[in-house]
Amino acid sequence: MAFEYESDLSFIWRAPTKVIFGNKSSTLEVESELDSLGVDKALLVTDTFLAGHEMVANVKKAMGRRLAGVYDKCEPDSGLHLIEAGAAVAREVGATGVVSIGGGSSIDTAKGIAILIHKGGSIRDYDGINMLGGKVAPHIAIPTTAGTGSEVTYAAVVKDHEANAKILICDWNLIPDVALLDPTLLVGLPAKITAHTGIDALTHAIEGMHSMQREPIADAAALHAMRLVDRYLKRCIDKPDDLVARGQMLVAANLAGAAFGNAQVGLVHAMAHTVGARFKIPHGLANSIALPHVIRHNAEVCADVYAEAAKTLGLAEDGMSDADASEALAQHCYTLAGELGMEQKYSDVGVTEDALPELAELTLHDGALVYNPRPTFDPDEVLELWKKAY
Ligand code: NAD
Repeated sequence: MAFEYESDLSFIWRAPTKVIFGNKSSTLEVESELDSLGVDKALLVTDTFLAGHEMVANVKKAMGRRLAGVYDKCEPDSGLHLIEAGAAVAREVGATGVVSIGGGSSIDTAKGIAILIHKGGSIRDYDGINMLGGKVAPHIAIPTTAGTGSEVTYAAVVKDHEANAKILICDWNLIPDVALLDPTLLVGLPAKITAHTGIDALTHAIEGMHSMQREPIADAAALHAMRLVDRYLKRCIDKPDDLVARGQMLVAANLAGAAFGNAQVGLVHAMAHTVGARFKIPHGLANSIALPHVIRHNAEVCADVYAEAAKTLGLAEDGMSDADASEALAQHCYTLAGELGMEQKYSDVGVTEDALPELAELTLHDGALVYNPRPTFDPDEVLELWKKAY
């Protein structure tokens, strides 16, 4: 069946972030962008590991007199308590804006801080969809991983450590104002994190395309993101200082972020959020294990979408059925993760078999599931999927 949109298609595309790409853009542009945003005093937000890194020192210096203070306690997967602590520092130093430098965990923490600077209250008050009711403090995001695309998305994915679950704060006001994409920052990114985050970007592109809210602009971004991941992810691992490959992976993550930020994600993310919170598995790795299984599960209802992606990646031969092309895509994702040295079963990353029923139940409560193309409500059906991925 040809890949087509419905005759009654309607959609909204938003990509308000000013994206500045280029080597050293993180230091060359940060001060003037703060100036353009009218931010006199900004809090620099980063994680505990990057805190001692030269790239953070360089951005601090480049922020000049606009640097109000630093909050460097972010951790992988962030946490509601870290946002509250960061907001307390912001209040102490009188910051009116934030600059985040790091992976998705730092950027998402900064999104939460930007909410509290501007709106006050507790971060729990904003849990959910469109709970902000207006603007947040200005935010410049500087990604140092090429995966989440958080620098252009409307979401903050944050762990509630008390409930051992991830919560989603989603609101169009949360989209950062400026993203500085500086390929030089990724040169030292370890191979494992490069692989995990790169597959995260691929997952965003595929989930953005199979989403119930898929639409042509998001699809264009997603398909090009897939091409770039295909061409450059392995190159980043083989040659970590290849600035072309690093830069194009930043673009891939950015495009995939814009795609899924508009079209949403689905069952892969519902599974990854659930298992990531419970077993502390890096987000991209958690996605990667679920991805081929979810493609096979969903192919029953959207094989035409997967066939389009397979064609883009040169996986579908002439005359191949959509079902076979979907299988080629699922197999391609699995093979790529293997070639990148990633674990391919949840049992290999510390998940225990007795946890599967609970994981299946929790998957059904994750907000991402709403947009999955194949309506999935049955706990037994989800449990089967978990068993396959286990
Ligand atoms: P991360 O931010 O958790 O970072 C992983 C590790 O990589 C950290 O130890 C960090 O210090 C290190 N690191 C980062 N950049 C580095 C560099 N250049 N050199 C060396 N080490 C570096 O990882 P991530 O995958 O970017 O983010 C994951 C988080 O983002 C999860 O919480 C996930 O749920 C969330 N997420 C958010 C969105 C969104 O739209 N907001 C989308 C997807 C994922």
